[in-house]
Amino acid sequence: HPGLDAWMGKRRLKTPDKAALIYDDGQAMTYAQLADLTDRVSALLSARGIGKGDSVAYIGENSPEFLATLFGCAQVGAVFVPVNTRLAPPEILHILADSRARALFRDRDFVERTSPLASAVGIAHVVETADLRHALADADAGFAFIHAVPEDPAAVIYTSGTTGRSKGAVLTHQNLTWVALNSLVDYDIVSTDVALMISPLFHVASLGMGALPVILKGGTIVLERGFEPGRALRLIAQHGVTMLSGVPTTYQLMADHPDWAVTDLSTLSKLTCGGSAVPTRILNAYEERGLHFSQGYGMTETSPGATSLSPSMTRSKQGSVGLPHFFTDVRITDESGADLGWDGVGEIEIAGPNVFPGYLHLPEATDAAFTADGWFRSGDLGRLDADGYLYISDRLKDMIISGGENIYPAEVENLISNIPGVTGVAVIGIPDDQWGEVPWAVLTVAGTTSISTDSVRGHLDGQLARYKLPRHVIVIDELPRTASGKIRKQDLRAMYGGAKR
Ligand code: ATP
Ligand code: MG
Repeated sequence: HPGLDAWMGKRRLKTPDKAALIYDDGQAMTYAQLADLTDRVSALLSARGIGKGDSVAYIGENSPEFLATLFGCAQVGAVFVPVNTRLAPPEILHILADSRARALFRDRDFVERTSPLASAVGIAHVVETADLRHALADADAGFAFIHAVPEDPAAVIYTSGTTGRSKGAVLTHQNLTWVALNSLVDYDIVSTDVALMISPLFHVASLGMGALPVILKGGTIVLERGFEPGRALRLIAQHGVTMLSGVPTTYQLMADHPDWAVTDLSTLSKLTCGGSAVPTRILNAYEERGLHFSQGYGMTETSPGATSLSPSMTRSKQGSVGLPHFFTDVRITDESGADLGWDGVGEIEIAGPNVFPGYLHLPEATDAAFTADGWFRSGDLGRLDADGYLYISDRLKDMIISGGENIYPAEVENLISNIPGVTGVAVIGIPDDQWGEVPWAVLTVAGTTSISTDSVRGHLDGQLARYKLPRHVIVIDELPRTASGKIRKQDLRAMYGGAKR
């Protein structure tokens, strides 16, 4: 454990004077300055007795401090715990308590919301991110650099909580390194890339597949504090942005913005999109501008990239989420665990150095998440084609079995979402005496749209087998969603048919 002086000599910055980050309307932070800020965070943690194995929670928007705290934790062996800023107080409390956070870093906007929570769980060290750049006294004290081994935890990232209570996924240094390497290889990331971070860094995809590979290659990241489609479009043109990573909604909002048609997007060459299926209308809107997506599939537990569909295959492998990332493998198994090859729908299992070692404090959930031979059970259903391309059916927990036939809600939802006026849809299984379960559709619609069970069934008739048509269609004002925007189907099932499974 050499001291700071010994460490300084080992700092490896290929391009110290190059802009690593552009933030807050055009300010630049060089690689050397980012390293300095990182050292300040390490020194501050050290001065407060926070080191190897201690959790450091972070709640804030995209900023230099966010990345400096991730790296600053790593330098002293602490574990970075990013908190989704959209979570409600009880959810934040769960993360602070479950991770046993010893410190909480927070942006000014979150002081009010987090102060009672920090007291409730007894966090002694609360740090305002705005003060980090001035934490001179602490920085002078230096810190002891901890050499992590690949298996040491680097972060704990909480799952979205779509299927139950959010779980803390322990991500090791190895996990974050290899997911970055996977992205670097499969998205051809180079040092001249300029990535605009339109998605929050507390999402593991933006962090592991957006920020880390770009930093690793010495590219430049333009940090958006909070996403606003008009400003994002402006920044793309202003900084010659080459790379974007986001979820379908962010891409949709940009394409819907009045400035979309008049913004120069010619520098964009790498667009990655994942988290849920990318609707065809978004693919088309971007294709009309000569822009093609790499669509991805993954989950918090795989840091998160598992597969990716190369833009050149968008048409020929329509509906697929692509091949496993370079250093990762995917297989499909049946209920008995037998490998199905490309012979049918089963559970998607994933192996590779980006797969997490387990959930924090949840040994039973961890056991259940792995097969005897060490593959991660995703809880998603899918199939491979003969070329090895993965197609997602749906989540295991959401699959409906009606009269012995499997119904994958995602298939039905995709078709319903094409009905004009439909703004949101969830298809759920409701217990039924005769069929075991029957599908119901719960919708939100735009203003004056009138929609009935008959009109939806009429639209789907001929496109889907009859047993897949929703028995009832219910229109509600708002679908219950997680902080990352996913529909909480277990809540809908509880509302309309009692909890299932
Ligand atoms: P929890 O595990 O707490 O219930 P979650 O699974 O939603 O929540 P995440 O890790 O954020 O938490 O999400 C991963 C899941 O998102 C995957 O298991 C899969 O169901 C879904 N998903 C991710 N990418 C895609 C995609 N391209 N197409 C369809 N579904 C996707
Ligand atoms: Mg999950």
